[in-house]
Amino acid sequence: MEVTNDNGCSWINDLIPRTNIQSLQSNEDCEWLIIGAGYTGLSAARKLGQLNPNQKIILVDAQLAGEGASSRNSGYLVDTTLNDGFTSNKELNNYKKKADIYNLGINTIKRFINEYQVDCEWNECGKYFASSKKEDEKILINFSDTLSKLGFEHNLLFNNELSKKLGTSFYNVALHTMGGVLLHPGKLVRAMIDVLPSNVCLYENSVLLNWGKQKDIIYCNFKNAKINTKKIIFATNGFLKSLGIKSNYNFPITLTASMTRSLTEEEFKSIGQPKEWGVLPVKPMGATIRMTKDRRILIRNTAEVHNPLKMSKEDLDKRSINQKIGIKKRFPQLPNDIIQSSWSGIVSRTRNSSQIFEKIDNNIFAVGCYNGSGIGVGTLFGEQIAIKASNNNTKEIEVIENRNKPTLLPPQPFLNLGVKTRLIYERFRAKSDL
Ligand SMILES: Cc1cc2nc3c(=O)[nH]c(=O)nc-3n(C[C@H](O)[C@H](O)[C@H](O)COP(=O)(O)OP(=O)(O)OC[C@H]3O[C@@H](n4cnc5c(N)ncnc54)[C@H](O)[C@@H]3O)c2cc1C
Repeated sequence: MEVTNDNGCSWINDLIPRTNIQSLQSNEDCEWLIIGAGYTGLSAARKLGQLNPNQKIILVDAQLAGEGASSRNSGYLVDTTLNDGFTSNKELNNYKKKADIYNLGINTIKRFINEYQVDCEWNECGKYFASSKKEDEKILINFSDTLSKLGFEHNLLFNNELSKKLGTSFYNVALHTMGGVLLHPGKLVRAMIDVLPSNVCLYENSVLLNWGKQKDIIYCNFKNAKINTKKIIFATNGFLKSLGIKSNYNFPITLTASMTRSLTEEEFKSIGQPKEWGVLPVKPMGATIRMTKDRRILIRNTAEVHNPLKMSKEDLDKRSINQKIGIKKRFPQLPNDIIQSSWSGIVSRTRNSSQIFEKIDNNIFAVGCYNGSGIGVGTLFGEQIAIKASNNNTKEIEVIENRNKPTLLPPQPFLNLGVKTRLIYERFRAKSDL
């Protein structure tokens, strides 16, 4: 299994490269092993380090820590999402359960950045759910009804008002929600690496090949060495299935995104000098598009079942061309060649969009599957699984465990066929807003 990524992600390239990188070279024994060093694994390690200061904790990643999806996302810390299905009261209840988890996620990140004084370009500007299609107003009015029932501050906007805010006349209707935050995902995850407690030992570029359990010891085989541990947390998100974790409940999806260089003063004036904003699509497969504080435009408009997980340069270039078209449709006055980087990232999904947060066997824990909410929920779940695995309880764990549980997936080849067909159908429905 290959877990390496392309090295063309602007969020990563904005940061000073790290130097203190160690990979696993000799056999180790430990109390705690965490596999995966994204928001989830880093948060689990931080919390375990605080709870168990005298125990040996090892955190391992197949690539450089934080350089998986946690540095490759669009940077929306969400309070609400649109594409979850909610019309009856029962669904309203389910929606509330999800929103409660998102809210805990936002609070967890707020606490983290306040405690460690993290600069991650935090902007509480909310976000827009926007569409170029006037008829999508109906969907947004329904959504507005749900948000009103749950007490979320929001407002509907139309053509001219929207163009002034976004600097593009592409969108006809949007719903703005106030509670979401935009941030720099790479800076956030880097801060989580920098503050790892001293009893956490981080090994990078070290792929877990296979693992098993013998009596009370969990043994893990890596290329150059093995680790024996008493307890383990799997925090590999898009790679849970390939490690055999809850494999009947989750599957990987590959996303791609592109980011432009900063617009020049003149280019920025030509689009009306909008403040930083973030747009999410009304139809699930439409484009996520964001104007950053430093005037770069980010676009993500693909989600697919891609095998192998790592995307070739040729495949990525094809997606990048579509992203260039997506930017051009919205900002025809900007030059053609302003995309600075394109990248892919792997996330994990479940059938009913519910998350995994579980003890899967004695001393074995797994977390993941956050869909588009992994910044907040991954950080929350990482901390809380560490608390659960240390045999403690919190009110956050009660809220998390009260969520709907992931439902069983159909067997292969029906799974891949079903997911591919659904994605193609959703892409067709959203084609005007790609
Ligand atoms: C393009 C894109 C846009 C997104 N936009 C948003 C957004 O705006 N807001 C939001 O909240 N979420 C968004 N997401 C999702 C979000 O990035 C993820 O949910 C989040 O990063 C999950 O964090 P994690 O730590 O669980 O997983 P990851 O960051 O994926 O970390 C898992 C780690 O496990 C490692 N690993 C895997 N297999 C092994 C192995 N065998 N051995 C050792 N290590 C292994 C990987 O190298 C990786 O570093 C987006 C994702 C993508 C790709």
